[in-house]
Amino acid sequence: MTAYNVTMIPGDGIGPEVAEATRRVLEATGVTFNWEYREIGLTALEKHGDLLPAETIESIKRNKIGIKGPTTTPIGEGFRSVNVGLRQELGLYANLRPGKTIKGVQSTFANVDLVIVRENLQGMYSGIEFDAGKPETAEVISTMNRLNKKQIDPAAAISIKVISEENTRQIARFAFDYARANKRKKVTIVHKANIMKFTDGLFLRVAQDVAAEYPDIESNDRIIDNMCMQLMQKPGEYDVMVMANLYGDIVSDLVAGMVGGLGVAPGGNIGHGVAVFEPIHGSAPSHAGKNEANPTAMILSGAMMLRHLGELDAAIRVEKAVEAVIGAGKDVTYDLRPDRDQTKAIGTDKMADALIAKIQA
Ligand code: NAD
Repeated sequence: MTAYNVTMIPGDGIGPEVAEATRRVLEATGVTFNWEYREIGLTALEKHGDLLPAETIESIKRNKIGIKGPTTTPIGEGFRSVNVGLRQELGLYANLRPGKTIKGVQSTFANVDLVIVRENLQGMYSGIEFDAGKPETAEVISTMNRLNKKQIDPAAAISIKVISEENTRQIARFAFDYARANKRKKVTIVHKANIMKFTDGLFLRVAQDVAAEYPDIESNDRIIDNMCMQLMQKPGEYDVMVMANLYGDIVSDLVAGMVGGLGVAPGGNIGHGVAVFEPIHGSAPSHAGKNEANPTAMILSGAMMLRHLGELDAAIRVEKAVEAVIGAGKDVTYDLRPDRDQTKAIGTDKMADALIAKIQA
């Protein structure tokens, strides 16, 4: 069996611990990997003087596949989010975030099975921002004030929301193709076209055009705020949802909460011939280095990677092991215990041991 070359980015905070657990669990399936360890974020800044080193990007481009732990992005201070940067550098236009109930995970909702397809490169996360008080910001504001009746305070900060027809068509096709390939019934287009008539209006119109190309998949649309309420009231009516960047970021955390929290929510970023899988959660600094973080989200991201590689059998074995171990409720990290008692919980490494034992049983 040939080994897969995969770029492994452990990240920082709890990243290295959940990444190590993931590596061990994925290897326990018998699929073999040549892991190329690379850095981004704070660890990369310390070592290479760059948050997003070229050699990390090159490694993923060469291997065409990567798996990544969370990275800390300091708020403000002119730091660009490395996650946004990585997705943009690699053209990872689709962010796939499934939210499925796992037996044994405590949650308010039962039988949730939703998939969020989030546009990853545009929307409010275009990365085009103008800081308050800067000369270039004044120039942008003065041009906008000249062209528009509505006047912007010259002291304001500006973030640009970008929605293009091409990118919307691309993400909508991804959502409908995903629905078809995974035997899902419906795609809901999520937007705020009633207020943002040009950007979200374009998103809705183009996504509806794409929907017409898929008569076998039911489709409808929901305004983002109503979508959130409907998810709380009747989640069973929804299936795949496609939406712009910021909405997808928020709704996927909401859905993660519905199925038991960030500790069990995986994700994947997919582009043309390249993909990077990563949990939804962040670097959870307060849990870092304590061997107490839940590795499930990154392990399930690893299962998504196995599916992407065509290793369906191995992916199913990982997913079934997760269900069995969490369902038994014994060998789990503190966040999966009903009492959340740290003293009775087991560590990240021991939870990985239990998963490995199940996979190899
Ligand atoms: P977070 O996801 O790190 O933590 C939120 C809460 O969820 C934590 O208090 C923790 O209790 C819990 N949690 C998250 N993952 C867990 C796990 N695996 N096991 C147990 N508990 C877990 O979100 P945050 O606190 O908003 O962000 C912290 C840092 O992470 C920030 O710098 C942020 O920018 C970054 N971040 C990175 C990514 C990424 O790399 N993809 C995603 C989100 C946030």
